[in-house]
Amino acid sequence: MSVETIEISLAFAFVCSHCGKENFVRGVLHEFTGDEKAEYAAEIGERPETGQWITHPEHVTCNGCGADFRAVNPGELVDERTEE
Ligand SMILES: [Zn+2]
Repeated sequence: MSVETIEISLAFAFVCSHCGKENFVRGVLHEFTGDEKAEYAAEIGERPETGQWITHPEHVTCNGCGADFRAVNPGELVDERTEE
């Protein structure tokens, strides 16, 4: 019996703080502006045009209860809490 092949994509997960449902959202491909390309090339020698940068969407919606959230990564969350 042969097994079918399927393309898999990177995704991000969050647990809704309203209903507790675990949600998965697709990563989005970041489009580099000309300024960003120059900035990364100067700072870290990266050449963004040769690769892909997957990031999370800025806003997410819970599939369970429909609550909307602004999405931040764990590092950003720590920064926000220490600023308060
Ligand atoms: Zn929810």
